[in-house]
Amino acid sequence: MEVGDSVQVVNLYDIQNNMIELKNITKVYHSGDVETVVLKGISFTVQDGEFVSIMGPSGSGKSTLMHIIGALDTPTSGTYLLDGKDISKLPDDVLAKIRSEKLGFVFQAFNLLPRATVIRNVILPLVYAEVPIIERMPKAEHALAAAGLSEDRWHHLTNQLSGGQMQRVAIARALVNNPSLILADEPTGNLDSKTGEIVLHTFQDLNTEQGRTIILITHAMEVAEYADRIIQIRDGLIVEDKRITRKKRNQENKNISISQRSTI
Ligand code: ADP
Ligand code: MG
Repeated sequence: MEVGDSVQVVNLYDIQNNMIELKNITKVYHSGDVETVVLKGISFTVQDGEFVSIMGPSGSGKSTLMHIIGALDTPTSGTYLLDGKDISKLPDDVLAKIRSEKLGFVFQAFNLLPRATVIRNVILPLVYAEVPIIERMPKAEHALAAAGLSEDRWHHLTNQLSGGQMQRVAIARALVNNPSLILADEPTGNLDSKTGEIVLHTFQDLNTEQGRTIILITHAMEVAEYADRIIQIRDGLIVEDKRITRKKRNQENKNISISQRSTI
């Protein structure tokens, strides 16, 4: 090794691998004469491979923030670097491309097409991303397996599934484009607590086993605790940002395999 090489290696360690860098983000909504300041200056960074919860009471600005992080909306002011690139002022079509290539979304209400099959729902983002037809089915099957939905459900219509199964389809749909970042907004809000817990363990597995960066939005501490870090917001401002030891599986769930989980 040359002397110059070793210098370069040392420098690499100094580079912070920030996936998300928010600097003084604000969001103001106008309707008629009424101005609502929802985000009042949010700054934080998330590194590649982190599992972070954003927690706050209803109306605190969580979904607004998620829409900005997810390139579904732009901030009123401030900068947002995603993988080092400022995306806070890009036009809609460029944002759509970034969403399709880098991001996966999971919502409280699942947002599936009810009269389409599970497979069809999961394939849809691949159609939008213009993935060649021959690659679509294997990718969809891979994502459904990773999301833990048992194979005997893959050709059902989504309106024939339980809530837990629907959320697994939504997770598979979020995974199918191999996103580096998954954004989940109250993903357990429509699930009973046991099913919710299993879905949250699925996020933990996707983070630990596949290295996905995950941002989990919730109003509930018992949900936020599944992550390794909790950012609390209130009235559009960060009030706390701390690292925690993530909540572990209950003993009774410890040895449950993905296929067993998928029956729920
Ligand atoms: P949370 O997800 O934490 O419940 P939201 O981000 O959905 O909070 O909303 C925060 C505040 O912003 C609320 O007071 C809400 O009424 C307001 N808000 C959200 N979207 C809009 C909008 N499009 N126009 C005006 N006000 C909005
Ligand atoms: Mg919300």
